[in-house]
Amino acid sequence: MALLQISEPGESTAPHQHRLSVGIDLGTTNSLVATVRHGFPSVLADESGATLLPSVVHYADAQIDVGLSAKQASSTDPKNTIASVKRLMGRGYQDALQLPDAGYTLVDTPGMVSVQTVQGVKSPVEVSAEILKALYQRALQSLNDDIVGAVITVPAYFDDAQRQATKAAAELAGLNVLRLLNEPTAAAIAYGLDLADGADAKEGTFAVYDLGGGTFDVSILRLTKGVFEVLATHGDTALGGDDFDHRVYCWILKEADLIGLHANLSAQDIRLLQAKSRAAKEHLTANGVASIRASLSDGHQVNLMLSQAQFFEMTKTLVDKTVRVLDEALNQANVKSHELQGVVMVGGATRMLNIQRAVTSHVACPVLNDLNPDEVVALGAAMQANVLAGNRADDDWLLLDVIPLSLGVETMGGLTEKIIPRNSTLPIARAQEFTTFKDGQTAIALHVVQGERELVSECRSLAKFELRGIPPMVAGAARVRVTYQVDADGLLTVSAREMNSGVSTEITVKPSFGLSDDEIADMLKAGNANAVADMQARAWREAVVDAERIVLAVNGAIAEDGELLSDAERMGLLNHIEVVQELMSSHDVAQVDAVRAASDALAKSSEDFAARRMDKAIATALSGQSIDNL
Ligand code: ADP
Ligand code: MG
Repeated sequence: MALLQISEPGESTAPHQHRLSVGIDLGTTNSLVATVRHGFPSVLADESGATLLPSVVHYADAQIDVGLSAKQASSTDPKNTIASVKRLMGRGYQDALQLPDAGYTLVDTPGMVSVQTVQGVKSPVEVSAEILKALYQRALQSLNDDIVGAVITVPAYFDDAQRQATKAAAELAGLNVLRLLNEPTAAAIAYGLDLADGADAKEGTFAVYDLGGGTFDVSILRLTKGVFEVLATHGDTALGGDDFDHRVYCWILKEADLIGLHANLSAQDIRLLQAKSRAAKEHLTANGVASIRASLSDGHQVNLMLSQAQFFEMTKTLVDKTVRVLDEALNQANVKSHELQGVVMVGGATRMLNIQRAVTSHVACPVLNDLNPDEVVALGAAMQANVLAGNRADDDWLLLDVIPLSLGVETMGGLTEKIIPRNSTLPIARAQEFTTFKDGQTAIALHVVQGERELVSECRSLAKFELRGIPPMVAGAARVRVTYQVDADGLLTVSAREMNSGVSTEITVKPSFGLSDDEIADMLKAGNANAVADMQARAWREAVVDAERIVLAVNGAIAEDGELLSDAERMGLLNHIEVVQELMSSHDVAQVDAVRAASDALAKSSEDFAARRMDKAIATALSGQSIDNL
C-alpha cells in the first residue's frame, strides 16, 4: 500500500517533505538547474521549454533581466549588460583588466572588481546571484515544492576566493548551499563512474574534457573507493566555442570582401555577423553545409555557403591546441594516456565533430559522450545534491505517498474526465476548466469520481455538489474552473469557481481513499487489462522507494560514522548497497522480490553498525553534547 507520512505529535502534518534539492551548473556562457525526481536526474526547463539559461544579466532602468532577454540587450545596451561574469568572480581589478573587453565598465573596488551599471556599482557576486535567483525561481515553479538545498558547481581550478564568491552569490540568491562541487567531478558522477562495476569497480583514472563557450579545461580524476580526487587540471581560460565562431567571422569578412570595410562596420553589424557565425558553426555539427545570409546596415548583402570541410580546415589549429592541453594535463598528473579508463566530454562545444574525432583518435580508451554535454554537469550536481539532502537527517525520511486511483469529474454523457491521474505524488493540485451545456444555465452539478474507467457508472462516486448562482449566459460562455487538491494526508478538496462572476463553492471529501488494498486491486483489475502489470509496477515502485531509503540511510551513516567500521565491514556494507542498486537499476518488475530481499539483507547487515552508532550517540549525549539522531 502507499506509504503514508506520519508526523510527530504536535507538528503540522502538511506540507509533505520530499527533501527536494537541486544541482546548478553556473556556467560562463550558459547555466542550468537539475533535480532528481523518482530516482532520475533531469534538467528543468523554463515556461518556453528552454533548459539553458544564458548567463547574462541586463540592468535596465527599473528592472533586471536575466537570460535570453538580457542577451538580446547586449547589442542595444552593452554598457549595462553583463555577460561572462564568472570570469570576474573573486578577481581583483588588475586581474580583470587582463580579460578581453566585454563592453561594460569595470570599477576598482576593494577585494573584488565590480561593474558599473545604470543601477549602480554591482559586484560579480550580485550579478551571479541574479542568475542563480532565476534558476531557483524556475526550480520552485516547476517542482512546486520546497527546495532544501543546492549543489553548485565550480571549475576545478577555482581558487578559494572564487569558490567563496560563488557560495556568497548562492546565499544571496536565497539558496541553501549543500556543497560546491567541481564541474569535472559532477560530470563523472552523471556518468555513474563512481558506481562503475566490473573488475575495476570504483577505481580508475578518467579525463574530463570540457570545452564551453569561452573556456577550456581538462581535469584528470582518480577514483578510489568511490571518491574522486582531482589529480591535475589544465586549461586555457581564453579558448572556447567563441573562438570557433571568431574563425568563421573572419572567414565571412574575407569571403564577403568586407575586410576593407571592417573598420567601418557598425557595432550592430559586427554583432549580427558574430551571431550568424555562431549559428553556422552550430548548424554544421549536424549538417554538412551551412548558409550564411545577412544584410548589413549599409545595404551590403552577405550570402555565403560554408562547408564542414572548410570549417574543419579553418579551426584545425584550435582543435590541435585542445589536444595539446589534454596531453599537458596528463603529463602534470603523471598519467599515461593508455592508463585512462575513459574521457568524459563536457560543454556544448564538444558537440563539434572535429573535436569528437580529434579526441577519439588521440586516446585509446572509450570517449563518453552519450549524455547531453550541456547538461551533464548539472545532472551530476543534482545527483550529488540528492544524496546530500537525503543524508541530512536520517530520521526525516522521504516517504512518497501516491494516489492509488485517478480522481475525476463527471462530464456530459456520463463520462469521466480525469483531473488527477493515479500514481501522482502527494500533495498535488490540478485544475481544469469546464463550461455550461445549456443557454441560461445558472447551476452545474459536480460529481467527483475515482477510478480508471471511462464511464462514471463504473467508477466509485466520492461526492456530488452543485455550483449555483452562475449568471445566465449562452451555453459555452461560462468558465467554470474546477480544482482538485489532495494534501499530504490524502485529503481531497474540490472547489469550483465561475471565472466571469467569481461565484464559487468548495467541498472536502474525506476519507478519499478509504478503500482496502483489495478493493483498489479489484478496481484496477476491472479498469484495464493491464491491471496486473500496474499492480506489479506499483509494488516495484514501493520496493524501490523502500530500498532507496535504506541505501541512503546506510550511506549517510557510513559518511558520518564510518570510523566505527572495520575495512571489511565497510566493504561488506558497500557490497550489499551495490547489489541493491544494481537490482534497482534493472527496472525489471519481475525482480521485485529480489529487491526486497536485497534491501532486507542490507538492513540486517547494518544492524550492528546502527547499534554502535547508538552507543556513540549516547556517549556523546552523556558528555553533554547534542545528540545526533540516528
Ligand atoms: P559554458 O560552460 O561556458 O557555460 P556551454 O557548455 O554552454 O558553455 O557551451 C557553449 C558553447 O557550446 C557555445 O560556444 C556554443 O556555440 C557551443 N555549442 C552549443 N551547441 C553546439 C553545436 N550543436 N555545435 C557546435 N557548438 C555548439
Ligand atoms: Mg560549462
